[in-house]
Amino acid sequence: MKRGVLIVLSGPSGVGKGTVRKALFEETDIDFQYSISMTTRNPREGEMNGEDYFFVTREEFEKNIAEGNMLEYAEYVGNYYGTPKTFIDDTLASGRDVFLEIEVQGALQVKEKMPEGAYIFLTPPDLDALKERLVGRGTEDMDVIDKRVNTAASEIRMMANYDYAVVNDEVENAVQRIKDIVKVERLRVNRV
Ligand code: 5GP
Repeated sequence: MKRGVLIVLSGPSGVGKGTVRKALFEETDIDFQYSISMTTRNPREGEMNGEDYFFVTREEFEKNIAEGNMLEYAEYVGNYYGTPKTFIDDTLASGRDVFLEIEVQGALQVKEKMPEGAYIFLTPPDLDALKERLVGRGTEDMDVIDKRVNTAASEIRMMANYDYAVVNDEVENAVQRIKDIVKVERLRVNRV
C-alpha cells in the first residue's frame, strides 16, 4: 500500500510559516492532513482549541511527554509546543500525506526519527523584513519580538540541515514552491 509523505515546514518565527500554511490549505488541489500541535501558550484572539492548537496546561503537556505521546516537542519563548505522535503514524500508514508546521528545534527532532520526510526551511528575504512582520502583526510585546528575532538569527544557520529552502518573498510564490516540492516528494517516496 502507498505510504503518505511527511512534509515538515519550518523556519524562524515571524517568517510567515502560519500565513503560508493557511494559504496552502486554501488551495483546492492539495490533499494533506494538517497535524494540530499542542501548546501551553494562551490562545490569541480568534484561535480555536482543536483547530489552531490543542491548548493545554503545563501539567497536561508534561503528562503527555511522560507518557511518550509526543513525536517531538520544544520549549519556545517560555511555552511548550509539540506534535502528538499517534495522528502522524496512523495518517501516514493510511496513505495520506501529513503536513507539520513547527519551529526549528522540533523539526530537527522529527528529522532524526523520520529522515524519509521532506524538510522545508522557509526563510525571510532578510532579518529586517522579519522584525517588521512581527511588529506589524501586533500580537507580541517588544521584548518578546526581540527574543524572537534573536532566536531567528541563530535558526537561520540551521538551514543547512534541511532538504529544501523556500524564500518567503510573496506568499503565493512560497505556496507554489511548496506544492512543487510535494509533487517531487511523492515521486521519490512512492515512485509514482
Ligand atoms: P506561535 O506561538 O506563533 O503560534 O508559534 C510559535 C512557534 O512554534 C512557531 O515557529 C511555530 O511554527 C512553532 N510550533 C507550532 N507548533 C509546534 C509544534 O508542534 N512543535 C514545535 N516544535 N514547534 C511548533
